[in-house]
Parts: sequence; C-alpha cells; structure tokens
Amino acid sequence: MKRKTIEKIPYTGLKDVVKKEGAECVGITALKDVGNEPHLFMEVYRNGADSLDVPVVRVVLAGKDFGTYFTGRGEWSRALISCHSYYGSRRPVWEKYGDGQEASVLWSEDDLERIKDFTGVKERSWQKLEWWEFLNERMRAIAEQERRDRAHRKRERRRQALKDREENTPQLREGLVLEYADRVLFQEKHYLYYKKHGVRVRVACSKCGGVTERRWKPGISYESQFEAMTGEPREGSYGTCPMCGAIGEWKPQGKVKGKYGRRGFLFLGQKYKGTGMVFRYIEAEKGYLLGLACEGDETVMVNACEEVSAVELARAYFEEGKEPQTDFHKRDPYLGKNFWDDCNIGYVGNIRICSAPVMGETYENMKGTFLQYCAMREYDAAEGGSINPVDYAGGYIHTPQIEMLVKLGLPKVVEKLVAGYYGIVKNSSANRVDQLLGIRKEHVRQLIRHRGDAQILEVLQIEKRMGQQWTEEQVEDLAELNPRTMANGFMQEVLEHMGVQKMLNLISRYADAGYGTGCSKATSRLQEAAWTYFDYIGMRKDLGYDLANTVFLMPKDLAAAHREMVLEQSREAAERRIREVLLRFPLVKKHYRRLRKKFYYGDSEFFIRPARDAGEIIMEGRVLHHCVGGDSYLQKYNDGVTVILFLRRKKEPEEPYITVEVRMEDLKVLQWYGEYDTKPDKKKMDKWLDIYATKLKCGLAGTQEGPGDESGQQVPAATTA
Ligand SMILES: [Zn+2]
Repeated sequence: MKRKTIEKIPYTGLKDVVKKEGAECVGITALKDVGNEPHLFMEVYRNGADSLDVPVVRVVLAGKDFGTYFTGRGEWSRALISCHSYYGSRRPVWEKYGDGQEASVLWSEDDLERIKDFTGVKERSWQKLEWWEFLNERMRAIAEQERRDRAHRKRERRRQALKDREENTPQLREGLVLEYADRVLFQEKHYLYYKKHGVRVRVACSKCGGVTERRWKPGISYESQFEAMTGEPREGSYGTCPMCGAIGEWKPQGKVKGKYGRRGFLFLGQKYKGTGMVFRYIEAEKGYLLGLACEGDETVMVNACEEVSAVELARAYFEEGKEPQTDFHKRDPYLGKNFWDDCNIGYVGNIRICSAPVMGETYENMKGTFLQYCAMREYDAAEGGSINPVDYAGGYIHTPQIEMLVKLGLPKVVEKLVAGYYGIVKNSSANRVDQLLGIRKEHVRQLIRHRGDAQILEVLQIEKRMGQQWTEEQVEDLAELNPRTMANGFMQEVLEHMGVQKMLNLISRYADAGYGTGCSKATSRLQEAAWTYFDYIGMRKDLGYDLANTVFLMPKDLAAAHREMVLEQSREAAERRIREVLLRFPLVKKHYRRLRKKFYYGDSEFFIRPARDAGEIIMEGRVLHHCVGGDSYLQKYNDGVTVILFLRRKKEPEEPYITVEVRMEDLKVLQWYGEYDTKPDKKKMDKWLDIYATKLKCGLAGTQEGPGDESGQQVPAATTA
C-alpha cells in the first residue's frame, strides 16, 4: 500500500448533512488510481455540519491490500472495521455505541454498488450484510491470504534450506563406511557352518561362500593320509576356513535359522561449506545368510554369505555463528520412499542420536573448520572410542572451555557439560579451570587425578563455597560420603562447631567403618551414617537446639538420637496443626454451646455430643486413625453444613470411640466410624444412632445434661454419674 501517496490525496468530503433520522455517521466512496492501480476509498464522516471536511476514518482497498487510516490518531492500521458484540449485534468500529441501530448510512445508492463491485463479496442467503461488512469481508479475505502466503514462504524457506544442506553435503563414500563398520563394529566376524558325518565334516564359509567336505578325524587307512584335513569343529570356538583361510566362529548347521545379523552405529564428520562440519549418524548392519537345500531326506548347506549394509539416520550441521541444525532421514510409508526432513519424527518414532565410534577421517576433515581446536579427538580417546560428536560440538559452542577441560584431563566434567548439565559451571566467562568450576586452585591437580570425577568436583565446589580449606585426603573421604547428603547446608552447621577431620572421624565412628577401604559395604555404611547424622543435625537445628552443646552435636547413640528427633518433630508438627485449625475454623468453638443444646443425647451406656473445637476433632481423628481431622470435614463443620459429633461410653467420657457426621439441613446421619475406619459393634450402634436421629428430628435430643459437659474441660466420669 502506497501510504505516503495516499495521504497526499485530499479527502472526498461531504456536500451536506444527511437528513435521515438516527444517522450518526455517513460513508462515502470513490475510485481512485494510485500508482496505476485502482483503489477504493471509503471515508466515514460524523453527520454534523462542522465535520463534513475531515472524516473519522478512511479505508483504502486495493486488489490485494488494504489499510485503515484513523484521522484522529493520524496513523495507519490493519484493523478490520467490523466488531461483534456479545449480543450478536454487529457494528462498525467508528460507531461509539453498539446498540444495533442503523447509525451508519451511505451517502448514496451508488456507493453501495461501488463497494459491492470492487469487493466482489456476495451476500449469503442466510445473512444479510451491512454495507460496511462487504468491505470487512474483503479485508478479512486479504489478511487471511497474506497469512497463508507467509506460512507458505516460511515452509518454502525451510524446504530451500534443507535442499541447500542436502546439496552441500559431501558424497558418502559407502565403501569406506562399510569397511569401517565391518572392522570396528563387527570385528570382521565370519562364521564357519558345519555338520559332521562320522569322521567327515561339511563346512560352509560365510566369508568366501564356499562349501566343502573334509575329514576332521585322521583315518587309519593308507588312502586317508592323503585326504584334506581340518581341525575338529566345536561350537563357539574359532577355526580356519579350509577354502579361503579366513578365521571364523564354528556354528552348527542346525543352530542357524535363516538370516540373522548384528547392528551398530557410527559417526562420520565431514567439512561443510568451507569452515563448517556435518556429522553423519549411520546405522550399519551385518547380515549372515546360510543357503540350505534338500538332498533326499537330508538338509545340506549349499552356500553361505555375509553382507554389511548401512543407512544414514541423521545429519547434524554446524556452522560458525549459526544455530546447529539436525536433519533426519525418514521414510514415507505411503510412497515407500525415503526423504530428509529438518525435524525429528516425534513420539515413538524419534531418532535418538547416541554415543558411537567416530570414523578416524572425521578428525582429518575437521582441520580448517571452526571446530578444529575443539579437542574432540582427545575426548574421543579419553572416552574409549565412543562419543556423541553432535552433543560434543553443541557443548563446545555453548562452553568453549571444554577444549581446555579435555586437554587438562577432565573428561568426566566434559561428559556432564556435553549432556547439558551446565549448572556445574560456576563462572562461564572464566578461562581458568578453577574459576570456571568454582574450586580452589590448589585442588585442580587432585581433580585431574580423578579425571574430573563428579563427586570429587562437588566436594571441591562445596569447599570453596563454604570458605573451607581441606586436605586432599579429607576431600576424598567427603566424596565417599556422597556430597548430596551435604549439599543442604547442615554440614555447614556442623563445621561451625567442629573441624572437618573431627566430623569425618565422628561419622566413621557412627558407621563403624573406615574411609577408602574400597569395600562397597563400608562405603554404604559411611553414606548411611552421614545421611542420618546430617538429617539429625537438621532436625535439632529446626527444633531450636543449641548445637554448641556437644551432647546435641555428638550424640553417643546416633540412631536413638535420630529417632528421638523424628518423634519430637512430629509432635511439634501436630501442635502446629492444632494451632492452625483453631485459627482457621473458629466457628466450631463459637457455636459449641448452642449446638450442644440441640445435639446432646445420652442413655445409660452411651452419650453423644458435638466437638468443642476444631482441635478436638483433629485429636479425635488422630486417636481413632481416621480422616475426620481433614480440612474438608472441618470446613463443612465451620460453614454450618454438617456437625461432627463424638459418641462415647459413659464410663470413659474422654476416650474417643465413634465419630459421627450429621447434616444440619435434615439432621441425617451421613456417616459414622470407629477406629481405623471400622464400624465396631455395627448392629447395635446403627440402632442406637437410628434412635438418636429420630429424637433429633423430634427435638427430643439435647434436653439432657451429661458427661463431658464443661466446655473445653476434662470432666471426671465419677462426678457426672
Ligand atoms: Zn572361506
């Protein structure tokens, strides 16, 4: 839309006010050429003598474009001009109120014809369009087409980029890949199939495909000396093919079932577009086949063969300064064709790129690329010849210092980083390993000796963070305790009151085991003791004990002290819970007297009364081990929906026995439970509660006084009898 040009075109203007009742706004149209293309101008004016020159809004439509210019704001927009209200009425945006009146009119009949002609919008039989809606429909269609075009262009760009990558991916020299796969993944494994007949054996070789018969047991006749011999075949052991000399594993003919094979994965890295790299993830398979035929009633081997095949699964492209891109090889099951796509399959079909051997020429190809100095080859060697170069290259781009970490001999740290555990880096801009990992400089050598072991690293990071200075031996002992048990800060508490060596000795004493024995039983005892000790310390601290007191800091019997703290903590939590519900559900207590007057009832054996307060309900639930102390019961009680009643024996008025829930509305007994959600003495109690419910409904309950009467006080049974 040529907005600047359009802005220079003067407004059409209204010649006069439209004299029609209710007409607030007047639309007028004109066809004008802008840049040799016809445009429809539609201007809306307020219907008043002083606003005939400048419109409120000007809508301009071209064949494939539109714009809306609000003169008040002095700016263009792409807003549509029709609003829908919740009541289903439609009105144009320039109308102040959407009351469904025809407040916007056109200057003349010609204007409507012009709009219909230009927009080409047809009125639907089921919906009459207002005049501005013809414009709006056309604008909506244009916007929708633009959206589709944009999506198409994006798809097209992705398709082009994919095509470009495919075209710039170097040829795969299949012979080299297959040779490498056979050598490295399958160790050039061959099979010698055999079937014995007395002193003779029939042999088929998977390498050369030949089949022959040989003697394996020396004969006693003179002629037999001249017969070709072979060693005795034995399943699983290795022999030499009498035909081609290849070494193969003996496999009895009877144990071979048709085709079988082994699979493996490998990577090949190649230069991509000069200084980039593409890593190709290849799945290789070596298949073995034994040909069998029937000869009389015997099955004989006729030939054997083996074949290595490979299929590429994924390609990961790395270019300097660009986001890495991985393409995946997919199969279209309908067309039966394979194709490359720039996203993974998703869900179950996902292709996962895992560690695998990397073909040696990858590192030759890396020279001159931006990954030249990434130390991937050294990492590969340190990891024993199986890595994921895609993750490594990604890790290198994110944290280039992994080159230094590999070269220093910290492959275990690199493993973490490459797997995405960037959290172990404490200062990502550091160029020195101690600063990068947040450890003391003097401990770097120790970490290297352990190849960057994760537990040692964690202890060293804790040491630095706590401002401690530990010896190498102490670091190793702490690492054996499993740093995870120390991370929560309770170790720091302990170290404020004793030295690290004293703490280590203490834990060793609790565990009754020494450090560095290499015995896994001892290690797990140490870890268990450390966990218990720090857990104990944490609880002591939370419960407000002073750890400066050595009785608390170093209990004689750790297990007993730990148990004691667990109990004390749960007691504490229980009291906290009661304090909390008393505050949250105060109405239970407030209405106790009133409810008691209505709900109290007793006979010679039992009595029933409402709960005095929310705390009492909690205690009832705890003693009887049922869920009446839950928030939902308390809430209903507090809201006056239900009332919770305690049914007890008159002999033991303070002993919880049965808990009853009654609905306020109709005084119906909703449920009742005794200990552990059971219904003790069910028949009798059901009957008792039936009588109670009847009395409640007749207003006969609540008239008696009885045990447990004093609000919130213990009442001895003797005084109420
Ligand atoms: Zn052979």
